[in-house]
Amino acid sequence: KARLLQELKGKENVTKAGRKIALYANIGGVGDVASVLANDAGGIGLFRSEFLYLETEDYPSEEQQFKAYRTVAENMAGKKVIIRTLDIGADKQVDYFGLEHEENPAMGYRAIRICLDRKEIFKTQLRAIYRASYYGNISIMFPMIISVDEVKAAKEMCATVQEELKSEGIPYGKVELGIMIETPAAVMISDLLAKEVDFFSVGTNDLTQYTLAIDRQNPKLDNIYDAHHLAILRMLQMIIDNGHKEGCWVGICGELGADVTLTDTFIKMGIDELSVSPSMILKVREQIRNSDAK
Ligand code: PEP
Ligand code: MG
Repeated sequence: KARLLQELKGKENVTKAGRKIALYANIGGVGDVASVLANDAGGIGLFRSEFLYLETEDYPSEEQQFKAYRTVAENMAGKKVIIRTLDIGADKQVDYFGLEHEENPAMGYRAIRICLDRKEIFKTQLRAIYRASYYGNISIMFPMIISVDEVKAAKEMCATVQEELKSEGIPYGKVELGIMIETPAAVMISDLLAKEVDFFSVGTNDLTQYTLAIDRQNPKLDNIYDAHHLAILRMLQMIIDNGHKEGCWVGICGELGADVTLTDTFIKMGIDELSVSPSMILKVREQIRNSDAK
């Protein structure tokens, strides 16, 4: 079986009827790139940039971040690298952020909320990403979005950063912008959000948590944390349809994307991309190639 999977390296992610699906990998740091390449992923669909902040004693500098993003972009040699901007909150211990203890960190001061409030942190990260974009094929996505205004504010910051770099004579590449769909609010306004961005990536881990009102970190609730819940599948269909109407491609980067019992269902729903842990790439490829979706 393992040998058969190895034989899928170098093969396309294409259904029997000829539909191609982008199959990317999720990573949490520069060190993961080797396994992305070893497993023949077509790109990186989720680069969790938090690690840069979690492994340092103080805010990582623009230069530190630039080096990490550039290294990943160069190693991926023109393949897509989707960097998710900072997704940190009271549940992740980063002393230098000085975050107050919160009763309910999953619904607290985190991710894009921090970035839009503490703009200097956001700007430093975006400058580093744009600078790195010159050395590869980088896209940016924003986590935990609940409103069109947040997306507009984030895009404005990207525009400011580009103007600054231009005036400083620092080169940057073309960067697609996308958002994670991981709140029920984002699902319900996905028709409006789709007008603002190039792509959607569905974060089913958080989307399941917020939709079912089940703490994803509470082991007592593991037996009812059901990512196959009809509510999630219906939401997924709505996100795909609303995205496609506005020309956005739509992917899944939460754990559900690697659930091979659903690969065929996702394809029938119209999914364009799946981003999974490197070790799951070939297993998902096998499912795509077995799919009889039209
Ligand atoms: C998600 O919520 O599905 C996701 C991919 O992001 P994270 O697991 O990092 O919250
Ligand atoms: Mg998430």
